[in-house]
Amino acid sequence: MKSCPSCGKPESECDEPFVAAFCADCFASKKSLFEVKQPLELEYCPKCGKARFTGVWERPNAERLAMYLTGKIRSEYPFTVKACGLSSPENNQLQIEVEISLELPQGSTAKKKTTRTVTLLPSQCASCSQRSGGYFEAIIQLRGDPAKIARKTELIKAMVGNESFVSKTEELKEGTDLYVGSFKVATNVLSKLKLPYTQANKLAGKKKGKNLYRRSYCVRL
Ligand SMILES: [Zn+2]
Ligand SMILES: [Zn+2]
Repeated sequence: MKSCPSCGKPESECDEPFVAAFCADCFASKKSLFEVKQPLELEYCPKCGKARFTGVWERPNAERLAMYLTGKIRSEYPFTVKACGLSSPENNQLQIEVEISLELPQGSTAKKKTTRTVTLLPSQCASCSQRSGGYFEAIIQLRGDPAKIARKTELIKAMVGNESFVSKTEELKEGTDLYVGSFKVATNVLSKLKLPYTQANKLAGKKKGKNLYRRSYCVRL
């Protein structure tokens, strides 16, 4: 009967088939089955807690980081990566724990857990830098009953939330103006709240030959 030359276990007692002459466990411990390409670094916006993954700013949850790590792993075997845990950002670092399942030759699988440190490079995301620069694409003008205006102002700000931002809130005699970073988000919020509005577009200039409009949505409350 075949037994592992390293640990002496007979093949019949192993759950996984042998790889070459060794049991799957010994094979996996003898050889480094994968390597992680360095550096592990992500641009990170401390203001909103998003990190930049291939150009897109996203919240760094365990699944997203496992995906990022997958792109950094090199192995001669096919593998999959599962997220097991993630620390919260501290001292500009994140600890991500993953389990890597590698398909070894002859049908065995090796599972390896590893914890890696990702360095966070403090930066300002596109949205936060626009917000601090006062950028806006739409103005929501709330008019009518002051108590209703106050309530809707808070609601709209909360709903704009993570998707965009309110760069300025202006209290006027006739109501409140909310300057919103994205006109798409502004119209989405108004339709979710089922608030009818009248729209006015003012030409604000040109950008790369295209007309740039400043949209205002007037809501009667
Ligand atoms: Zn063995
Ligand atoms: Zn940000």
